[in-house]
Amino acid sequence: MEKIKLFDKTFRLFIRNAEIEAAIDKVAEQINKENEDCCDIPVILCVLNGSMMFTSALMKRFTFNCELVTIKLASYAGTSSTGEVKELMGFTADVRGRRVYVIEDIVDTGTTIVELEKKLKEHGAASIKICTLLFKPESYHKDLPIDYVGISIPKAFIVGYGLDYNEVGRNFEDIYVIDEEGDAPRMKYYVLFGPPGAGKGTQASAMVERYGLHHISTGNLLRKEIAAGSELGLRAKALIEEGSLVPDEVVEGMIASEFRSVKGVNGFLLDGFPRTIAQAKALDEMLASTGEEVTAVVSIMIPDSMIVERISGRAAVEGRADDADVSVIRHRIDTYHAQTEPEITYYKKSGKYFEVDGVGTIDQVRERIFELVDRF
Ligand code: AMP
Repeated sequence: MEKIKLFDKTFRLFIRNAEIEAAIDKVAEQINKENEDCCDIPVILCVLNGSMMFTSALMKRFTFNCELVTIKLASYAGTSSTGEVKELMGFTADVRGRRVYVIEDIVDTGTTIVELEKKLKEHGAASIKICTLLFKPESYHKDLPIDYVGISIPKAFIVGYGLDYNEVGRNFEDIYVIDEEGDAPRMKYYVLFGPPGAGKGTQASAMVERYGLHHISTGNLLRKEIAAGSELGLRAKALIEEGSLVPDEVVEGMIASEFRSVKGVNGFLLDGFPRTIAQAKALDEMLASTGEEVTAVVSIMIPDSMIVERISGRAAVEGRADDADVSVIRHRIDTYHAQTEPEITYYKKSGKYFEVDGVGTIDQVRERIFELVDRF
């Protein structure tokens, strides 16, 4: 197939299966040679899910005795404050004292591989070799050497042969790249999602600068109206101060007016909108009327226990009335769970929902967001 469609995106053929197979032959030959005279049984560590196809193809070519061990990792969803890699399933066998070949589908920025090497050392692996089918040299700035590379590729978002777009596309035997050729650059519409205090405003500034976006914060727009003493401001004030939402049509009108009036940007970053399913649907309709759509929902996640702490800290700096009172903060958290959180299911259905761990330093969270948004 020359083109495939996964959710909202079209991908075109990038690397044919024959080329992939030839690259695997080459890597297998190197590893076979290295193991010719060895009498121990090395571990072949398959990093799930992405590398299952590559691991399988590679192992079929191995001529020495080896043991398959798996581990399941996910990026962008880590819960520890230091790492961006979450362990969904640990090593399926003991690696202590063993030679380990880590088998990866792709090494991009190298975050996963560095975390994994650390983990293997902690578990007492005797030696660690890294083997990847695909490698993005432009994105990789880590010191850890990559021992075996199948194919080096430029920075691009690819799927197939085990690699996915939001969990879909792994099944194709060829590799595909996102197809933007011939299209005029499309306006991007990012929704920055998350509970109050997740750091949306802070991260918005960094995204605006990196991607040339126009930031629309409905909270800021409403506060401006209040400060100006407009009729809209007067209507919104009491609702905001008690931590409730202002009516959908008020914020929808503000968004439509920003879309109309702001020109010369690469796209829009929506912060604090949509906050209800009705607003999400209204946004889809607004964009569909000009043949556009939401690019991605970037969801910054922090636990409820952190929300109060973060917002109370911010109160002193920004002087927002709705930040100063714990009972108002609690009401905003309840409003978020009841009215805003259901949007997660709404956006997951269209494959546009991407979660980022919001626990950690501002820099760490920003890097996680960039790593995700760079793909679009
Ligand atoms: P924020 O600055 O995003 O935390 O928003 C502050 C307050 O403005 C919220 O607690 C709501 O009262 C109101 N607000 C902001 N965005 C919306 C929206 N999309 N829908 C309804 N109310 C909103």
